[in-house]
Amino acid sequence: MVLPNPSFASVGIVGAGTMGQGIAQIVAQAGVPVRIYDKGPGRAQEAAKQAAAGIERQVQKGRLSAEDAQAALQCLIPVESLRELAPSALVIEAVVENVGVKQQIFREMRDITQGVLASNTSSLSITALAAASGARERMLGLHFFNPVPAMRLIEVIRHDDLDDRVLRQVLGFVGELGKEAALCQDTPGFIVNRVARPFYGESLRMLGERLQEPLDLDRALRDGGFPMGPCELMDLIGLDVNLNVTEAMFHAYYGEPRYRPHPLQARMVAAGRLGRKTGRGFYEYEQR
Ligand code: NAD
Repeated sequence: MVLPNPSFASVGIVGAGTMGQGIAQIVAQAGVPVRIYDKGPGRAQEAAKQAAAGIERQVQKGRLSAEDAQAALQCLIPVESLRELAPSALVIEAVVENVGVKQQIFREMRDITQGVLASNTSSLSITALAAASGARERMLGLHFFNPVPAMRLIEVIRHDDLDDRVLRQVLGFVGELGKEAALCQDTPGFIVNRVARPFYGESLRMLGERLQEPLDLDRALRDGGFPMGPCELMDLIGLDVNLNVTEAMFHAYYGEPRYRPHPLQARMVAAGRLGRKTGRGFYEYEQR
């Protein structure tokens, strides 16, 4: 549904991978202009194309009117530099899970826009990102879930120096996007990833010990009531993204054994078996 008076009149996205593309789609569907930037040549355009295809699918499923879809398509604006995100009242960063890379982006964004700055990080310290930004009162965590159009939850992560008005404005926007907010303290993994980490870790151990094959493990967990098994879920998330999050949490909890990464996953990442996005992970996929 196109919003008559959104909490943020325009949004910018940094990082147009799996998450950036999904976030762009739902923001555009709300009728809010969304500028998309990625450092990879052609990636922002590709993400806009994929988001447009996602919008068309919503029409086919009867969830979006043809008129709203037309307005949404006009809202997708790929850009070629970080600077072109200047008009954004809210900038959402969704680049690689690396603290140094994210901090550098926020340092630059502070001077580019006076808008609110948000990170989609799964596991890194929002406090550390906010401190590096030099604009900590208007910087917070906004953790979407994959696939963004389908998943209702967004974790909203606060920290000690966050301005309450910014928090309220962001919570309002989450509701306007048709999502549910879970307010989180700044702790590694927030809520969902912290609880979910042993789900992946224990599964990788079972695979590493050759106790199970991916197909059997996934089937067992699905039959047990989980919407997806661990292997198909890691393929959807991206093995590299999942490993980065596990490593970040393992370090953030000072080597807590429950969060220890598994060499099987590191080996798959080294081999480029990243899941759906590379056509091969635990399973094989047709490339789009
Ligand atoms: P991805 O690998 O699909 O995409 C990342 C994109 O960021 C790439 O297109 C890359 O070119 C771009 N990028 C890297 N450095 C950049 C820079 N300096 N400037 C601009 N663009 C840059 O990753 P993803 O799965 O979309 O994850 C992005 C973030 O979202 C990570 O922090 C991840 O932890 C988080 N996240 C991922 C999931 C998931 O299921 N994949 C879920 C929730 C949160």
